[in-house]
Amino acid sequence: MKSYRLLFALLAGAATHVSAATHDFPMMPVPFTAVHFNDVFWAPRLETNRLASIPDAFKKCEDSGRMDNFARAAAVLRGEKITNLKAPGYPFDDTDPYKVLEGASFTLAVQPDAKLDGYLDNLISLIASAQEPDGYLYTTRTINPAHPHDWSGTKRWVNDPKLSHELYNAGHLFEAATAHYQATGKTNFLNVARREADLLCQTFGPGTNQLHLAPGHEIVEMGLAKLYRVTGEERYLKLAKYFIDVRGPGGEAYSQANLKPVNQTVAQGHAVRAGYLYSGMADVAALTGDQDYVRAIDAIWENCVGKKLYLTGGIGARPAGEAFGNDYELPNATAYCETCAAVANVYWNQRLFLLHADAKYIDVLERSLYNGLLSGVSLTGTKYFYPNPLESDGHYERSLWFGCACCPGNITRLLPSVPGYAYAQLHNTLFVNLFAGGTADVVLEGGHKIKLTQETQYPWDGDVKITLEPVKKTSFILALRIPGWAQGNVVPSDLYRFADTNSDPVTLTLNGKNVPIQTDHGYVKIVRTWRVGDVLRLHLPMPVRRVVANELVKADTGRVALERGPIVFCAEGPDNPGGKVLNLTLADTAPLTASFDPSLLNGVETIKGRVLNTDKVEQDFTAIPYYAWANRGRAEMAVWLHRQ
Ligand SMILES: [Zn+2]
Repeated sequence: MKSYRLLFALLAGAATHVSAATHDFPMMPVPFTAVHFNDVFWAPRLETNRLASIPDAFKKCEDSGRMDNFARAAAVLRGEKITNLKAPGYPFDDTDPYKVLEGASFTLAVQPDAKLDGYLDNLISLIASAQEPDGYLYTTRTINPAHPHDWSGTKRWVNDPKLSHELYNAGHLFEAATAHYQATGKTNFLNVARREADLLCQTFGPGTNQLHLAPGHEIVEMGLAKLYRVTGEERYLKLAKYFIDVRGPGGEAYSQANLKPVNQTVAQGHAVRAGYLYSGMADVAALTGDQDYVRAIDAIWENCVGKKLYLTGGIGARPAGEAFGNDYELPNATAYCETCAAVANVYWNQRLFLLHADAKYIDVLERSLYNGLLSGVSLTGTKYFYPNPLESDGHYERSLWFGCACCPGNITRLLPSVPGYAYAQLHNTLFVNLFAGGTADVVLEGGHKIKLTQETQYPWDGDVKITLEPVKKTSFILALRIPGWAQGNVVPSDLYRFADTNSDPVTLTLNGKNVPIQTDHGYVKIVRTWRVGDVLRLHLPMPVRRVVANELVKADTGRVALERGPIVFCAEGPDNPGGKVLNLTLADTAPLTASFDPSLLNGVETIKGRVLNTDKVEQDFTAIPYYAWANRGRAEMAVWLHRQ
């Protein structure tokens, strides 16, 4: 298996998913380096991320002193006397350059750029120069060990479960370093990560001379799993598992430490921490075969998707503690839905798919990706949301950056990897999960090479043409995802449901002949000997759909939302009379029409109809995709309208 995985990755022309692990997820994603989007939707967003967001985020890190923190720490290590001993704004400021470096590495993997490559090498040298001789890397303590950031405590590590975020910093370092290594083949950053990981292995564990404490803000678990995959060092995997098992009981639910993770059954506490823990548990479960972890994250997922998921795919209802609320506690104006939590939700659902081969996880992932995650960044790629509420009275707007800048960096690293969520494979089954124009070069078991081309205007149109070109005729199973939304299920739970009916069926043809839509775990599976030029045509009807929430969601009582395909819509001030969109009433019988407006918001589908305004007077109404709101200044916005 090991050699097959390596061979597969090399044949795919990508180092990105090389795994030295003997055990891993049964499913493997087709690496994003082997998937090239040339579509109307993602390709331009990925270019904006590469050309605007990443350079801008690096500049923000420079201007805000985040790079200088490494330089000051390095000067102290060289024995120089420095005058500026000031602590950074947050003890996790080091993670922002790490995250952008990760995103930049992903772009390098598909688009060589000597200038960017050189910039990254210089930055890595700077980071390496701030690493203490034993591998410790945490600039605020190195700069001023007697008085580091207030949250850091006076001793290494011990304040981490509360506030220091030393292990969170380490986790992001590992994530970034493995990405850089896989993208460039260079070990300069990987070696920095390994030195710190080795220090963690000495410091933490069950031994009598070791520290027994659970990371306060998870991500080191995922980071160590990645480091294990690229190095094959078992101790990194063991430490990842240790950091999960040492958590709880008796700690705070805020950081998922009130119970042992294997005994947890509900999504709780800080939503980003939670999503990273569940993702880390999925990784360790895949790498060790631990079924108790799988049972726990399956139960937590049922709770989350059944009771705590916003229509936009966002998670984390409460601003206080940036946390999950109670079951069905899903307020709209105060919805927190941190951009980072949407990123974590994508990570978690992708891993559950890789464990279970069920399209319901991709349904949640797709919902998050097109809506609550993408809303986190402006169309220009340089303004961001931290919370992503579902309603605004017009006071909320995007920011160029944040003091606590976790979200922009997370966007920069997630977007370049989106093509990696489109396809996956298991033995001789090829899964088509996302729809986007472009190509994929896949190598199935036995070394069978297949080129697949998608032609589609998705998400604006549900017609998808897939052309297959196996190098020679090959027998394999093509598993085509039929999205839940196209089969009458808003989400894979009873949290939301369609309030209208759609009589236009999903259809599929193979070389012009009808293929029945019989799904198995959300996939139509076609077994045959595929030949060059075989063409599948999928028709996913995309009428405007009305959605209502489970009656237990009090915030949405008597309200209706609009969707079309995978896109959630909202009403925003600039498109509606007087800029007013709160308290509009939409009748179930009011006709709604969708049309594409190429001049609006970089080209979006709009939904138009007639509604009643606050004075019960009928007026025109326009809705735009939720992800595109707040690109025209402050304005009122509502996803949920009153229903009549
Ligand atoms: Zn964030």
